[in-house]
Amino acid sequence: MEYDYLIVGAGLFGAVFAHEMTAKGKRCMVLERRPHVGGNVYTEEIAGIQVHRYGAHIFHTNDAAVWQYVNRFAAFNHYINAPIAMYQGRVYNLPFNMNTFYAMWGVRTPAEAQKKIAGQIAAAGIAEPKNLEEQAIRLVGQDIYERLIKGYTEKQWGRSCRDLPAFIIQRLPVRYTYNNNYFNARWQGIPIGGYTQLVENLLKDIPVQLGSDYLTERDNWQGRFGRLVFTGPMDTYYDFAEGALEYRSLRFETETLAMENYQGNAVVNYTERKVPYTRVIEHKHFEFGTQPQTVVTREYPQAWSKDAEPYYTVNDERNNALYSQYAARAAVEPQVLFGGRLGSYRYYDMDQVIRAALDAAEAEING
Ligand code: FAD
Ligand code: UDP
Repeated sequence: MEYDYLIVGAGLFGAVFAHEMTAKGKRCMVLERRPHVGGNVYTEEIAGIQVHRYGAHIFHTNDAAVWQYVNRFAAFNHYINAPIAMYQGRVYNLPFNMNTFYAMWGVRTPAEAQKKIAGQIAAAGIAEPKNLEEQAIRLVGQDIYERLIKGYTEKQWGRSCRDLPAFIIQRLPVRYTYNNNYFNARWQGIPIGGYTQLVENLLKDIPVQLGSDYLTERDNWQGRFGRLVFTGPMDTYYDFAEGALEYRSLRFETETLAMENYQGNAVVNYTERKVPYTRVIEHKHFEFGTQPQTVVTREYPQAWSKDAEPYYTVNDERNNALYSQYAARAAVEPQVLFGGRLGSYRYYDMDQVIRAALDAAEAEING
C-alpha cells in the first residue's frame, strides 16, 4: 500500500484533512482535477491584486478553534464585508439595517423603521411562510422584498421565489442598528496574500497531483491506498446511479481596468431582475489595495449541466431526498469518506468545511 489516504479534491476540506492526517504520520496523496490547488477559494494575482477566481470569499466564523487554526497558515487582514445593493440607480446598504431603511423610507429611528416594516408584514397577512417569498415578506415587508430580494434571488437561483425554500434567506441578518457588517460573526477577514497561499501552506510537503480526475483514473489507483476521501459531488462518484443531483452554476467575467477605483466597494449587488449579473466584485477593496489599476468581476448565474462547475447545491425536497439515497449507499461503503460542500451536498461556508474536516480527521484517529 503506497498511501494511507487518497484524497480527491485540493479544496479546503481535502487540504485540511490531508494536513491533519499527515501530522499524525499518515501517508496522504491528493488528486485535483483543476490545474491548481484551493478549490473554489483559489485566488490568483492580476496587476498586483489577489483575484478571487471562483467568486468573492470572505472568511467569517464564530468558531474560535477554526479561527486559530486558519491563522496558523495565513495572516488575516481586518476586512469587514459591507456590500451595497444597486436598484434602479439607487444605492442601499446591506444587510438590511437602519441605513437601508433610511434610504428606503427616510425613517431615522428603530421605532419608525419597526412600525413601517410591521405595517407591511401585517398587510401581507402571512401566518406560516411556505416559501422564500413569504418568508422574506414576513421578515422585512413588501418594499424590501420587491427591491432588494426578489430580482436578485430569482436570477441567482433561476426560479420563482415561490418555488424556493425559505432557509436561503435566513442567512441574511435584519438589524435595527446602523451596522453595515454583512456577517454577525465574531471573527472576519481575508488572508493577506490570498487564499491560495493558505491552502499551499496546508499542503506543504504533501504530494499533490494536479490536472488529475480520480473518476477517469480509478483503475490506476486500485489497491494503492487504504482509504479514499472524496470531496467531489457524491452523485459523480456513483456515476449518477440514482439520478443527477441539481446545482446552480456561475459564469465569471473578469477585466482589468486602467483606473484606480471603479465602484468604491468590494461587493456591489445588482438586485434588478433585468441586469443579467448578480454582483460586481472589485477585488482590490478586499485588501485595501492602492494599485494604479483595478480588477473587476461580474458574476452571472447559470443553469447547471454536467459540464458546468457545480457552485451551489439546490437543497430543495427533491434533491435532499436524492442525496439521502446516495448517502445510504455511502453508509455501506466504509472505506470511502465523503466530505466538503459537494460531498455533503450542503450550503457550507469555509469555516464549516474546515470544522467538518478537522472533525473527520479526529474521528479517523480516535474512532
Ligand atoms: P471545493 O472548494 O469545491 O473543492 C473540491 C475540489 O475537488 C475542487 O477543487 C474540485 O476540482 C475537486 N474535484 C471534484 N471532483 C474531482 C475529481 N473527480 N477528481 C479530482 N478532483 C476533483 N464561504 C465563505 O465562508 N465565505 C464566502 O464569502 C463564500 N463565498 C462563496 C462564493 C461562491 C460563489 C461560492 C460558490 C462559495 C462561497 N463560499 C463562501 C463557500 C466556499 O467556497 C466553500 O465552503 C469551500 O470552498 C468548500 O471547500 P470544499 O473543499 O468542500 O470544496
Ligand atoms: N440575497 C438577496 N439580495 C441580495 C443578496 C442576497 O435577496 O442583495 C438573497 C439571495 O436569495 C441569496 C441569499 O440571500 O441567494 C444568500 O445571500 P448570500 O450573499 O449569503 O449568498 P452567497 O454569498 O452564498 O452567494
